[in-house]
Amino acid sequence: MKRKLIVANWKMNPDTSLEALHLWEEIGKASSALKKTSVVVCPPAIYVGLVAGQGGQALLGAQNCSASSEGARTGEVSASMLANAGVAYVIVGHSERRAMGETNNDVSEKVAAVLRADMVPLVCVGERVRDPDGFYLKETTTQLEEGLAKVSKKNLSKIVIAYEPVWAIGKNGAGPASVTDVLEMVLYIRRALIRIFGKEAAKVPVLYGGSVEVKNAAEFMEHAGIDGLLVGRESLNTKAFPELLRIVDHL
Ligand code: PEP
Repeated sequence: MKRKLIVANWKMNPDTSLEALHLWEEIGKASSALKKTSVVVCPPAIYVGLVAGQGGQALLGAQNCSASSEGARTGEVSASMLANAGVAYVIVGHSERRAMGETNNDVSEKVAAVLRADMVPLVCVGERVRDPDGFYLKETTTQLEEGLAKVSKKNLSKIVIAYEPVWAIGKNGAGPASVTDVLEMVLYIRRALIRIFGKEAAKVPVLYGGSVEVKNAAEFMEHAGIDGLLVGRESLNTKAFPELLRIVDHL
């Protein structure tokens, strides 16, 4: 059976390295007890070096990286810097970065940079709104086609897709998508991947993200056709997130 994958996106939290270390340790402890689930924690870049190698079974992820491998790029962090610091997964194309101007072409360059550095890109796709005419389907297809333009068939086993409807993300969002909505989109995404890459694409893990909490994690895992979850706010809670991990692992 395929291992389930739970990804914690801490976004721009917490405020101090002490809190970051504590959170990492609590998640690490909980992850060590899991049998069927892998956990990836994506802290802000400033904490990557701090938590790397600090024990527990959680894998280290990052929230972004530069598309460039070298050069004058003030404020940027390259994929190879992250890989050398122990990072194994990088979130690419998160809607909060797309809202800051990241395009599908930028996503595609970053995906290529992450793969070159031998890490796994967690590629986020998802519509901003659900319009009654179904244009949201096209929006997500275009994100896949353009964002994965530099992925070859041989790299298919090294990518993960996260379906994150923008309207369902964060405390100002509309709340989680319904399980039926997620199932519909996940099937649609899997079909689009197969159309782009062929049958091998059926193995690409697809996660759901958007207001996932302890109370809804099991329902998504069991009924939404997904391989795992991308968790924002709830991953900052030292009690709730370990509980969510245990629940998912026991399914
Ligand atoms: C996210 O930022 O990817 C996310 C899913 O956030 P939240 O769980 O807080 O909605």
